[in-house]
Amino acid sequence: MAAAVFSAEKGCSVRLFEKNEKLGKKIYITGKGRCNFTNGCPPEDFLSHIVTNPRFLYSSFGKFSNRDAAAFFERAGMRIKEERGARMFPASDHASDVTRALERRMRELGVEVNLNTGVKKILYEEIRPEDRGEPIDKKKKRRFRRKDAQPAFCWKTERSSVAAR
Ligand SMILES: Cc1cc2nc3c(=O)[nH]c(=O)nc-3n(C[C@H](O)[C@H](O)[C@H](O)COP(=O)(O)OP(=O)(O)OC[C@H]3O[C@@H](n4cnc5c(N)ncnc54)[C@H](O)[C@@H]3O)c2cc1C
Repeated sequence: MAAAVFSAEKGCSVRLFEKNEKLGKKIYITGKGRCNFTNGCPPEDFLSHIVTNPRFLYSSFGKFSNRDAAAFFERAGMRIKEERGARMFPASDHASDVTRALERRMRELGVEVNLNTGVKKILYEEIRPEDRGEPIDKKKKRRFRRKDAQPAFCWKTERSSVAAR
């Protein structure tokens, strides 16, 4: 859901497939039903609490920190609170508020949600520039260079096959 939100915020047209009958089922059981969604410690301390390979997260965390996560949920209409050890929860103590905030933001951004739709396979197919209706650059002599290709995505769900570019 977060990936759907951030892709849509970047202007992508997004479809989300969920095999369950509702979104974020696992979130309901997190933090004993309250969802401890981040920690409010200073961002510079955060990585020191990552047990395995904190360097892997260095760049991602530089772009989106624990503070950004808290600000994101507040912007999405969720009131938040901080508890012992700087653990952060929805103020309501209901993990469902996290799901609701993400769902609300997806709706605002026009993300298309397909429930009860398990993805079986993702297929990639390279589309040549001329197949996209783009002119062939005659000066380059070669009609098609692999690096000019763009992937087309096809996915196969339990119900249907879909293709998109
Ligand atoms: C008991 C427990 C408590 C936890 N408590 C916390 C906590 O308090 N704070 C915290 O930050 N983390 C907590 N976690 C960890 C947290 O739940 C996970 O890190 C988080 O859910 C991972 O998110 P995700 O989107 O990667 O995967 P998921 O939450 O598992 O979401 C993946 C989604 O994709 C769907 N899906 C899977 N395969 C397909 C398919 N083929 N087609 C269509 N849909 C598909 C699934 O149904 C699911 O809805 C807890 C985990 C557990 C088990």
